Amino acid sequence: MKSSSKASYDYVPVPAFEDNYIWVMADGQSAVVVDPGDAAPVEKWLREHGVKLFAILLTHHHADHVGGVASLLRTFSHADPIPVYGPAAESIPVVTHPLEGGDVVKLAPPFGDFKVLDVPGHTRGHIAYVQDVGGDDLPHVFCGDTLFASGCGRLFEGTPVQMLASLDSLAALPDDTQVHCAHEYTLSNIRFALACEPANLDLQAWDVRARGLREQGKPTLPTSIAHEKRVNPFLRADQAAVREHVLASASAQGVALAAAGSAGDRLGVFAAMREWKNTFR
Ligand SMILES: [Zn+2]
Repeated sequence: MKSSSKASYDYVPVPAFEDNYIWVMADGQSAVVVDPGDAAPVEKWLREHGVKLFAILLTHHHADHVGGVASLLRTFSHADPIPVYGPAAESIPVVTHPLEGGDVVKLAPPFGDFKVLDVPGHTRGHIAYVQDVGGDDLPHVFCGDTLFASGCGRLFEGTPVQMLASLDSLAALPDDTQVHCAHEYTLSNIRFALACEPANLDLQAWDVRARGLREQGKPTLPTSIAHEKRVNPFLRADQAAVREHVLASASAQGVALAAAGSAGDRLGVFAAMREWKNTFR
């Protein structure tokens, strides 16, 4: 039987700032930390669990993802220097191992191999890490600010073409891949998703379940690729209902959406949807 992790091996979303999650993978002795924008909550977690910092993975250069690295290195880097992996295409001074798509980060067991995907769009050099721990364990992806539960990242540096291709490469991962996003944006993403696709029954059910989790103070993550394909409008720009609602909203707002308006093709709908989300309240 598959399980999301071995009993002795956990994926913990350590909350930081208002709505960031710093993912910590720990086997009880050592930990790999993804996107530590703030050192304090990570340091506290590692000390409380008596776990050594083993490696740091960074997805992109934004301060809320990299800001805590220098301090963590000062605190924990003693005899063995701690490797810091990050995108070669972005300027991140703390990175010791620059990476590009196709590279594989090989960490000691139990962490296994992390295949690097180029996922530009939110930033120009954004990367994601696909973890293969082998055996019967589920695959995992750490996708930073590219794919969110029921949403996707803002296009700060990249284009809709890039972001759609990046989301396509994530959607092509195995359905049972566990998706570790870097923010708890789920409830507001679901509100927008329902505006795009109000009759989606999976989405309605997910809305109820996600609210329940948040009311109990629990994270709504990880999500899975299969689930996102059912409820994430940014992976569903080819659906008639999504197209209809996105184009109606675009024309109602008089948004300049030549591409979307002319053909209503998948890319045009995606670009219009991303624009609409930027101002959706
Ligand atoms: Zn970001």
